[in-house]
Amino acid sequence: MDEQQFKRLKTVSAKSFNDQKALIKKVLAGRDMPCPQCGTMIRVVLPEDKKATGLYCAQGCTNIALDFVL
Ligand SMILES: [Zn+2]
Repeated sequence: MDEQQFKRLKTVSAKSFNDQKALIKKVLAGRDMPCPQCGTMIRVVLPEDKKATGLYCAQGCTNIALDFVL
């Protein structure tokens, strides 16, 4: 990988990280957000469910683990 490719990769992952953060914020605020990939609603698994905490869609393409330090 040359330096140019590396720079591009870094930009892309920073963008998707920000998209992900925005998505998490909206879902946690109680908004119904569809998965950007498959369009099914994203559900939140909270720590009291005693499962891996995170955001998941029905198809599994959205699979964001959350460390709950709220
Ligand atoms: Zn999905």
